[in-house]
This record gives sequence, structure tokens and C-alpha cells, in this order.
Amino acid sequence: MITTVPDRPVHAPDASLDWSEPLVAGPVVLDERVEPRAAWSAHIAAGDVLTIVDVGGNQSADFLVYAADDTDERYSAADTIAWQRNAYVDTGTVLRSNRGGALMTVVGNEIDRHDTIGGACSKESNTLRYGHHTLHQHGCRENFLAEAARYGLSARDLVSNLNWFMNVPVEADGALGIVDGMSAPGKRVAVRAERDVLVIVSNCPQMNNPCNDFSCTPLRMIVTSA
Ligand SMILES: [Zn+2]
Repeated sequence: MITTVPDRPVHAPDASLDWSEPLVAGPVVLDERVEPRAAWSAHIAAGDVLTIVDVGGNQSADFLVYAADDTDERYSAADTIAWQRNAYVDTGTVLRSNRGGALMTVVGNEIDRHDTIGGACSKESNTLRYGHHTLHQHGCRENFLAEAARYGLSARDLVSNLNWFMNVPVEADGALGIVDGMSAPGKRVAVRAERDVLVIVSNCPQMNNPCNDFSCTPLRMIVTSA
């Protein structure tokens, strides 16, 4: 099956955004670029703030977070949604663990929508959804598995993840959409670690649906200390 890839929607850079800067000011302790389709991870100390920059616009940053000293305690979409009684993420959202604990808090946000429900793409789901010709494309699950292995974590440690910059609207009838994002080049979100955490990110390699505007672009990760 041959699928036609639509032209990439044009999102003009917002000149008012200074994407070279962390969203929360402070001494920079880490500043790294995540190449398109690549994985990334870091330990972030309690009180430090991670700014994620959507360099090219509408690039889904698939995100997992664990307590650094006990990785059995990890991000829980269900707990995060239930505690704040809202499916979306915005400034003030606390990323909760499977034990209800606070792992990180959103302290700055320039995007109207991030996704808590859509989960990660994978080789297997790509072939089911988009056809066998996508078999050679790795997905976020493969990125997560490779990066998690560096910390002794495996498939059983992967949980339903958060997707920064991805737009999955919940319709009035409960239906989910995967539609064009509401981010733009240079837009940022900032999350503060509430305890020492391990963050694992997949810069989503998906090219078969609009979650990345059909074009994979870099991310930038800036950590500032309190
Ligand atoms: Zn993905």
C-alpha cells in the first residue's frame, strides 16, 4: 500500500519567543539537543527545572519519569488525571506517580495542549495502523526500551506516557482524535522536579499521522538549578 504524505503545515516561528532561553531562569546545568527520532534521558535533582523546547514545532516529546531512588515509583497517567480531574496538562499540573506522589510540576507552559492519553507509537502498532511497509520504522516504544536499558529497566517498567506538544482532543462523545498540534517552533514547557527523578524521552519518530506534522524535528533540553 502506498500512502500519500501530505505537505507539512506551515507554522511560522513566533518572533516573541526566545527559544535559546530556559522558560524558568536560573543557572544552566544541562543544555542538550535531541536529534529527530532519537531518545534522551537524564537524572534531574529535586528543585531543578527541565525546559523542553519544541525547536521545529509540533514535535511530540514522549515522556516517562521515575523516582530516581526507587524506579518502581513512576509516572501514572491515571493518577495525574484523577488528582487534577482534567485530562489535559497545563501550568500547575502535578505529574503523579502510581503511588499518588508528586514527581514533577508544570511551572511554565507556552502551548495550549499536551496529551496524557495517546501513549507511545511502536513498530507493531505502526504496521497494524499504517501497513506492513512501515515495518522498518522504529517507534517511541523502541526508543524507550533502548534508553531504559541503560538504567537496568525493561519492557515491564514502561507505562503509559505523557506526550508533550501532542494534541489528542477528547470529543464530547468521549472519542479521541490525533490531530494537528497546537505548538509552534520555539515553544516551551517547563517542569520542576519535586524529588530526584529519572526522565526518559523519545523524540517521536512517527511519520504516518499528524502528531509530528509529518516531519520529525529536534528537541532541546535545558535544565536550570533552583
Ligand atoms: Zn511516537
